[in-house]
Amino acid sequence: MPITAIVGARVLTMDRQRRELDPATVLVEDADIAAVGRSDQVTVPAGVPVLDARGKAMIPGFVNAHTHVNLSDWLFNVLYPGLAGYDAADVECACLLYVVEALRGGATTIVDNDHVLPGDWMAAARASVTAFDRAGLRVVYARMFADEIDTRLPGYADTIRATEPDVVHASVRRPLAAVLRDLDELVDTFHGTSSGRVSVWPSPTSLRTVSLDGLRASAEFAARRGLRWALHLAETPLERAALAMGSVDWADRHGLLDERLLAGHCVDVDARDIRLLKRSHVAVSTQPVSNCFLGSGIAPVPAMLAAGLPVAVGTDDANCNSSVNMLGDLKTLALLHRGVTADAAAITPERVLEMATIDGAQALGMADRVGSIEPGKRADLVLVDLARPNLVPCHDLAATLVFQATGSEVTDVFVDGRQVLADGRPTFLTAAEERELLSDAARRSSALLASAQVAAIRPWRTRGR
Ligand SMILES: [Zn+2]
Repeated sequence: MPITAIVGARVLTMDRQRRELDPATVLVEDADIAAVGRSDQVTVPAGVPVLDARGKAMIPGFVNAHTHVNLSDWLFNVLYPGLAGYDAADVECACLLYVVEALRGGATTIVDNDHVLPGDWMAAARASVTAFDRAGLRVVYARMFADEIDTRLPGYADTIRATEPDVVHASVRRPLAAVLRDLDELVDTFHGTSSGRVSVWPSPTSLRTVSLDGLRASAEFAARRGLRWALHLAETPLERAALAMGSVDWADRHGLLDERLLAGHCVDVDARDIRLLKRSHVAVSTQPVSNCFLGSGIAPVPAMLAAGLPVAVGTDDANCNSSVNMLGDLKTLALLHRGVTADAAAITPERVLEMATIDGAQALGMADRVGSIEPGKRADLVLVDLARPNLVPCHDLAATLVFQATGSEVTDVFVDGRQVLADGRPTFLTAAEERELLSDAARRSSALLASAQVAAIRPWRTRGR
């Protein structure tokens, strides 16, 4: 017996035929989509609660394929010192703050490359997973680690740290044996929990900060436990300098490229690298806003797509994006590649939406469950209010969502059939709790910056550096 009917929306199914149904009826039964069709073809059974979605668009929930819920100068002098001070209560607060923002940007699935520093890993993981469970988000908890900081660039970290002598610097290194024990415990404890919404992956940070043994162990761990794994790969040209060759080339020569790998960024890659990634069936996640924010470069996404590589999209960290809003980032993704290739056909809005939904699900190995609105899949659904001045007129829905939406138009979100955002408000917090969350987050942030002695406000700089 269906428990909810969502009636009247203009639905982009993202199914194989990419059908658009208008007006549509979607029946949600427990966690699953029971029926999808034009409203004159789907009967709403008597007694079922109906959510009136007229005037709204419905899309599958976005897959944020690379983010950090809780990277040289910035990594060592800002991020690591700040993260070192997090306790479990800070982690919980950060997760809830993240979720209330991410849901309003339409994300229902995220890959959280968790970055909390080696204090009590299990306490931090438990705080994260508990908060995600409360909020109902679908999460890959990808545990990052670094077991070797600058073997390939001797003195690298110390040179950068020396530029900010007042900051309380933190060690990010954790021995590999301990990392592998932690990963086993994390998978045993959390993988498949929250009705299957939580997965756990290894996420060795990058080729710069993880030993070859650590990288190989991550790939082997993923294969042995039936998981995928994440890695920041070729994020900046600095890696090429450290390895004396391209990162993808290096990873390929060391047998690290496999079909379980979700490679984050892939900015500094050439045509040969793209062929190597394709040959090994590696999935890529691109983070256009983060790459611009940090001045890392621009990933050759149109070339990767043309080569048939699966490319997902991520916001990356709030720290290197300034928001975690998937809907808001899509325009940048499209415009960036049209601009840099001087080709308005380089990337279409339809392709951008595929990357953010069904292709993202594919990259995570979840396309059987999420990424499109089809019977039998989980009901991860997003409603977008089309009655906004910037969304009128809306002739072509894909183009409207990518180019006209700003990221503030999401009104309702369902994950696993549970409504987690209703009329723009999270259902797992009262209005008073949400207000308290925001002030609590601001207080905790100030306290963490103060204890790490990281300057929150810097002198006015008209020029960089
Ligand atoms: Zn990242």
